[in-house]
Amino acid sequence: MAASTQPDVMDKLVSLSKRRGFIFQSCEIYGGTGSVWDYGPLGVELKKNLKERWWASMVRMRDDVEGLDAAILMHPKTWEASGHVAGFTDPLVDCKVCKGRFRADRLEDARCPQKPSRQPGQHDACQLTEPRMFNLMFKTFMGPVEESASTVYLRPETAQGIFVNFLNVQQSARQKVPFGIAQIGKAFRNEITPGNFIFRTREFEQMEMQYFVEPGTDMEHFEQWKADRMAWHTSLGLSADRLQFHQHAAGELAHYARAAFDINFDFGGTLGFQEIEGIHNRGDFDLAQHQQFSGKKLEYYDQQANKRYLPYVIETSVGADRTTLAVLVNGYREEAVAGEDEGRVVLGLHPALAPIKAAVFPLTKKDGQPEMATKLADELRRFVAADYDATGSIGKRYRRQDEVGTPFCVTIDSESAADQSVTIRERDSLAQVRVALDQVRTWVQDRITA
Ligand code: ATP
Repeated sequence: MAASTQPDVMDKLVSLSKRRGFIFQSCEIYGGTGSVWDYGPLGVELKKNLKERWWASMVRMRDDVEGLDAAILMHPKTWEASGHVAGFTDPLVDCKVCKGRFRADRLEDARCPQKPSRQPGQHDACQLTEPRMFNLMFKTFMGPVEESASTVYLRPETAQGIFVNFLNVQQSARQKVPFGIAQIGKAFRNEITPGNFIFRTREFEQMEMQYFVEPGTDMEHFEQWKADRMAWHTSLGLSADRLQFHQHAAGELAHYARAAFDINFDFGGTLGFQEIEGIHNRGDFDLAQHQQFSGKKLEYYDQQANKRYLPYVIETSVGADRTTLAVLVNGYREEAVAGEDEGRVVLGLHPALAPIKAAVFPLTKKDGQPEMATKLADELRRFVAADYDATGSIGKRYRRQDEVGTPFCVTIDSESAADQSVTIRERDSLAQVRVALDQVRTWVQDRITA
């Protein structure tokens, strides 16, 4: 991985996230569940906005991609066919001295609990075991009897729900190859070393799309999806110099993959460039496996050419949580404010992702200003997420909104009643404009949909 030139803002984000209600440690009152996180009032809005943006670009704005919401619990044969029962493993090493557990292929990213902090194996006292393979799937039981016949798995990826529904979707939606199926949903992996906040967790959300194409046209579609997906990430406001393609070399390719590229984002600090999305040419591996294990034909019938074939699949797979973290890391900045002693913390979120689009303030608590401001906030709330704040100095209120990424602050002042206008202040440029009261809603909406 390429080294990062960006600062490490992770600790600051963890604390801001807790203080302002983006992300909390799960079950904190019980001492927390390891590497499990809950999204608070602002975090749930941010992640929802991100998922909505993916769904809009992937499903709503295209007529060649259909949506799906498949179940988490799938027939156990699915995971035999997909190769997960036999091969969804990571190499695990234990240290006999410190009792730490590490991924043998990621030792350079791990830290031994012994002081001074070093890579596992680098202290004289370290005693690492030989690596053994550890299956990452969570097992549970369907029904009241805990026996092997009722074993099911929490899905470790959403993709298989798409493959088993390939013909259902193709036929019911009357789609012709090439076409895609997209879904957003939870996935579970019993990761050996979760961590780095919401970067690697055991329960997470994926946004996956499988595009079914005629064999022979696959690399052309692969290149197109690579370009489209990179453009989507820059459209979120992620800076271009923090994004990179990483090509899987022959030895790194998964057994089913004909070609694979990751989109890596620079998280800063020691984490540096890491995968946020994978783009894979999976050939006909998945459909062929499910056809074999289910005994059901999964071929596509091309009426025009009068031929049947198993389509190849181009997959785009992106983590909703990991991309939320990328958006937060990318947006966080501390800056001085001209003419003021105190600087400000800003989350420079794209307006479409910001959890609050507009905050409405009465400048003072007199002259009917609070009533006017409340009325405006209520009107705005019918269309966009809006906040009302009358507490503290106007400067303090601006700071509170800057820190959670609110792009527009609207102030009702002593002139507002007379001229039926308000002042809107823009988060990044700090520019202020006077806007007619009855234009505020469209003014804000025009600026958040881009
Ligand atoms: P890694 O090498 O980081 O374990 P992977 O190559 O196994 O990831 P994929 O199976 O390609 O990941 O999953 C697609 C996307 O799902 C990843 O790019 C990432 O955004 C997300 N993802 C995968 N595992 C996790 C996890 N444990 N926590 C959060 N997001 C994850």
